[in-house]
Amino acid sequence: MSNPTSSARKRVLSGMRPTGKLHLGNYMGALHNWVRLQDEYECYFFIADLHALTTDYADPSGIGPNTRDVALDFLAAGLDPEKCTIFIQSKVEPHYQLPLLLGMITPLGWLERVPSYKEMQENVTNKDLTNYGFLGYPVLMASDILLYQADFVPVGQDQQAHVELTREIARRFNQFYKRADSTEILPEPQVLLTPSPKLPGTDGRKMSKSYGNTILLSDPEPEIRAKLKPMVTDPARIRRKDPGNPDKCPVGDLHKIFSSQETIAKVYEGCTTAGIGCIECKSWAADAIVAALAPIQERRTRFEQNPALVSDILADGARRATARAEQTMQEVRSAMGLGSNTVATVSQAVPNV
Ligand code: SF4
Repeated sequence: MSNPTSSARKRVLSGMRPTGKLHLGNYMGALHNWVRLQDEYECYFFIADLHALTTDYADPSGIGPNTRDVALDFLAAGLDPEKCTIFIQSKVEPHYQLPLLLGMITPLGWLERVPSYKEMQENVTNKDLTNYGFLGYPVLMASDILLYQADFVPVGQDQQAHVELTREIARRFNQFYKRADSTEILPEPQVLLTPSPKLPGTDGRKMSKSYGNTILLSDPEPEIRAKLKPMVTDPARIRRKDPGNPDKCPVGDLHKIFSSQETIAKVYEGCTTAGIGCIECKSWAADAIVAALAPIQERRTRFEQNPALVSDILADGARRATARAEQTMQEVRSAMGLGSNTVATVSQAVPNV
């Protein structure tokens, strides 16, 4: 395999928690963009299984199978190990090391004021989230990014705050520590705002696993059609003869993303004049989604049938990621007084103790 780590291109880092099979929302919100970015940047994409432990520590039984599913969906969506580095976070040792060291310099107040910290503690009732790992989650995330000295982190509008905290941690680190030539070790990453079109779930709310309203990338055609049939529509269209408005209908939103211009024109014409029924309109949306997912599902089947290849890709990704991350760790250890000289001094001193 080629070695994308030697590239002089700008570096991009992003990851996803292993929540199980990915859905259209994950695809349009992230993966679809990642596939594009891998042609332009030196990209590292990882499955954040250590992040899953911050909330699922009491029962980690799902993390392994979910990680496998996400890896398959990454490859199925078109991430290409010849163009980017794909790895599992826990298989790259520096991901255990940098959070400890950055934890030394991160003020507690920064972590306690992260909005999702309080929010999740209040709203998640089936898990005890008073653990240190959950509070330290942003340090784990900052480490993920800073380990690769990433230039950009592709995120949607709502995740910009997370990158901002990473920038603050990098800034604080750089205030304390520098290279011998006074240059900064941890560059502040920039947000790479990526387009994420409004993608409604089958109940009209944002597509999300926690709402149970998803269409999975791996759903077979009959399942996709069955999920779309009861999908909510423009509430003004109560009877068949009532005209509707695709701009007020979640099915209309799906058409805008997946259907051809020709079909979209037919939807507008038919909906606003009550010329078509919602059942027919949904079947067109299903046609478009099935067609969009066909190449993804073909690739998934190929990788599913070759688990050894998937293991090799992930092992190779972990090796490349470790090589890159270790470069950063050497600089960080050295700057924080933990350089190789210290090791030599200690080991030489041991016989005399
Ligand atoms: S015809 Fe289509 S766009 Fe119009 S309300 Fe029905 S499902 Fe929505």
